[in-house]
Amino acid sequence: MAQRRSPRFSGSKTRPSPAAAKAAGIAPAPGLTGPGTDPASWHPDTRMIHGGVLRSDFKETAEAIYMTSGFVYSTAEEAEAAFANTKPRFVYSRFSNPTVQMFESRMALLEGAEDSRATASGMAAVFASLACQLKAGDRVVSSDALFGSCQYVLAEILPKYGIETVLVDGRDLGAWRKALSKPTQAVFLESPSNPGLRIVDLKAVCDLAHKAGACVIVDNVFATPLLQKPFDYGADVVVYSATKHIDGQGRALGGIVLGSRAFINDKLQPFLRHTGPSLSPMNAWLLLKGLETLDLRLQRQCATAARIAEFLSGQKKVETVLYPGLKSHPQHALAMRQMKSGGTLVTFDLKGGKGGAFRFLNALKLILISNNLGDSKSLTTHPATTTHQRLGPELRKQQGILDGTVRLSVGLEAAEDLEADLAQALKAV
Ligand SMILES: *Cc1c(COP(=O)(O)O)cnc(C)c1O
Repeated sequence: MAQRRSPRFSGSKTRPSPAAAKAAGIAPAPGLTGPGTDPASWHPDTRMIHGGVLRSDFKETAEAIYMTSGFVYSTAEEAEAAFANTKPRFVYSRFSNPTVQMFESRMALLEGAEDSRATASGMAAVFASLACQLKAGDRVVSSDALFGSCQYVLAEILPKYGIETVLVDGRDLGAWRKALSKPTQAVFLESPSNPGLRIVDLKAVCDLAHKAGACVIVDNVFATPLLQKPFDYGADVVVYSATKHIDGQGRALGGIVLGSRAFINDKLQPFLRHTGPSLSPMNAWLLLKGLETLDLRLQRQCATAARIAEFLSGQKKVETVLYPGLKSHPQHALAMRQMKSGGTLVTFDLKGGKGGAFRFLNALKLILISNNLGDSKSLTTHPATTTHQRLGPELRKQQGILDGTVRLSVGLEAAEDLEADLAQALKAV
C-alpha cells in the first residue's frame, strides 16, 4: 500500500501528463487553454493567482464557474469513447469539472504535489485518503490528538470495516516506534493538532512509518500550505480542509487530497468517482479566490496571533498559553524547524474551569463564538463542550483539553481591537 514514489513534481511536470490526464478523464476540453509560461518557474504567490487557470474561448480574466452537472456529446460514438476513456474530455462533474480542476491544479502547484483531487469537505478528504487504500485486516497508526471528526473516523468508523486503528501520543517517538514495529498500511497525523497545538516530528515519524510499509497521510490544516511542507519530510499524502484558511472567509466547505500521480490515479480517483464526495464548481471558484489572498492573509494573521499569544502570556487570569511560535511552547524548537511561523491559532487555559471559560466567551464583544477557524473574523471556541465533547473527560485530558481551555482563531482585525476585547473579557473570568 505504501506510496514509495516521491509525490513532488520536478521541472515542468506541473500537470498530469497527457496520458495520466487521459486515464483520469480530466484533460481540458477543446477550447480551454492553460497559462502561457511554465507555472513551475513561478514563486508560490504567483502560483496562487495564476496557477491552474483554464481560459475559455471568451478569454475571461477571472476563472469561469462551470456550474454544470454534465457535458454533451456530438455523437453517440463520442459518448462511447468518453466512457471507454479513449478520448479525454469532461464527462460528468462527479468525476471532473473545469472549475474544480483549476482548484486542484492550483493546489498541486502550491503544495508541490504531482496531482490532487478536491472533495466536498475536509472530512470527505480525510476519509477518502484512508478508505481508498485500506481494506479489512489492515492496520493504521495515528496520533491521538486529532480534530474530533478525524478521531471518529479512525476510532469508530474504520474498525467497523475490520481495520485496526492504534492511537499513539504523537509527541512520543518511542510510542510511534513501538506501534510501528509491526507491518502497517497507513499512518495518519495532524501537526499542529486541533486544539492542543501538539507537534509531531514529521521526518522521524515518516521514516519509522516507511520502514513499517505505511503510507503517511498528514492533515496539514493548522499549518496551511504556506507554513509547513509535509512532503519535504517524507509525507506521501497531504490533506486539507479548504474550509479553513484556504477559503478563509467563512463562505464554503471544501477539501483536497494531494499526492503522487500513482496514488491519485490508481487509488483515490476510482474511490471518489464511484462514491461521489465531489466539490461543487461554485465552491471550487470561491476556494480559487481564497487562494489568491492566502499569503497576504496569513502574514497578517500569523503576526497578530504571535502578538496575542504574548499578550495572553502576561495575563493573570490565563494559566497557560500554547502557541508554537512562543518559546514557552514545550515543542517550540521542533515546531520552528518544521514550520515557517507559529500559525494563526492560539490555545489557552483560563482559571475557573468551564465557568471561567464560559464567562470569558460570553463577555467577548468583537471576537465571535464559532467552531470554524482560519477565518478573516476572529473566532473562539470551547473545545471541551463543542468540537471535542464526544471524547469524554478521560480522552480530553489525554489530549490536554481542559474545562478551562479556549481556542482562538486569529482573524484580520486590528490587533489593538482584539487585545482590547480580550482584556475586557478576561475581567469576567
Ligand atoms: C476542520 C478540520 C477538518 C474537517 O474539515 P471540514 O471542511 O469541516 O470537513 C479536518 N481536520 C482538521 C484539522 C480540521 O481543523
